[in-house]
Amino acid sequence: MAHTIDLSGKNAVITGSNSGIGLGIAWALARAGANVVLNSFTDRDEDHAIASQIATETGVKARYLKADMSKADECRQLITDAGSCDILVNNAGIQYVAAIPDFPVEKWDAIIAINLSSAFHTTAIALPMMRSAGWGRVINISSAHGLTASPFKAAYVAAKHGIVGLTKTTALETAKEPITCNAICPGYVLTDIVEKQIPDTMKKYDMSREEVIKKVMLERQPSKEFATVEQLGGTATFLCSSSADQITGTTISVDGGWTAL
Ligand code: NAD
Repeated sequence: MAHTIDLSGKNAVITGSNSGIGLGIAWALARAGANVVLNSFTDRDEDHAIASQIATETGVKARYLKADMSKADECRQLITDAGSCDILVNNAGIQYVAAIPDFPVEKWDAIIAINLSSAFHTTAIALPMMRSAGWGRVINISSAHGLTASPFKAAYVAAKHGIVGLTKTTALETAKEPITCNAICPGYVLTDIVEKQIPDTMKKYDMSREEVIKKVMLERQPSKEFATVEQLGGTATFLCSSSADQITGTTISVDGGWTAL
């Protein structure tokens, strides 16, 4: 028998959701009936147009709110402006690749702020809202790099391991309540953050685009296939279902076997 997940009446906030995985999760939650608040640091017509398209196609309420996740006060204000937050998806993230002695301090600070600290700030404002609503889900988007490391990604690996720790603490602080917190750890997904790494890697190894994808990126992903934003949307929706009521404080890998190696 088909098992459908109904999130009607729930309000979801997804940080960094005008593209990629965040947008895929927003679509999936909206298709399951949740109202969605989309976010990024820009305020373009096309950002608001994405929210309108989701509202039109799914029938839920969808809004786009600009907030820069590198700034503590804007992270907190985003959740306050959302008005309520039953489902919080901490997804905003950036990447920078360099050896530690050459790693620019401002890139380290930006990655730690956007990929890790933002989740602390949004969670701090969202938890009291979840408690008064009597239900909540915090879903942190970590990475295979939250469980394993690669050279030249010091800040990203540190932030993604950090968010796994924050996930466990959030789960323990809410364990006796109908609130869960989990981290999803994707392997490679072909989104902007990955596209941007392809030209430099092509130059570095003198490889074609296809060689970079197969020999460098998917080298560590035993399935030899990218995970998709739709699969991540499905994983997030599952974590919001009643089947996942007792899943808390853990990581769910969507990585084609990367972390099994
Ligand atoms: P993406 O570049 O398409 O998405 C990143 C999102 O974060 C965008 O919407 C961007 O606008 C937003 N963002 C960046 N800086 C921001 C800021 N200061 N304030 C608010 N929003 C900001 O890439 P993606 O692959 O969809 O990445 C989403 C998340 O998934 C990230 O946390 C990333 O680390 C994680 N992830 C991605 C992969 C992958 O292979 N693509 C793998 C593992 C984890």
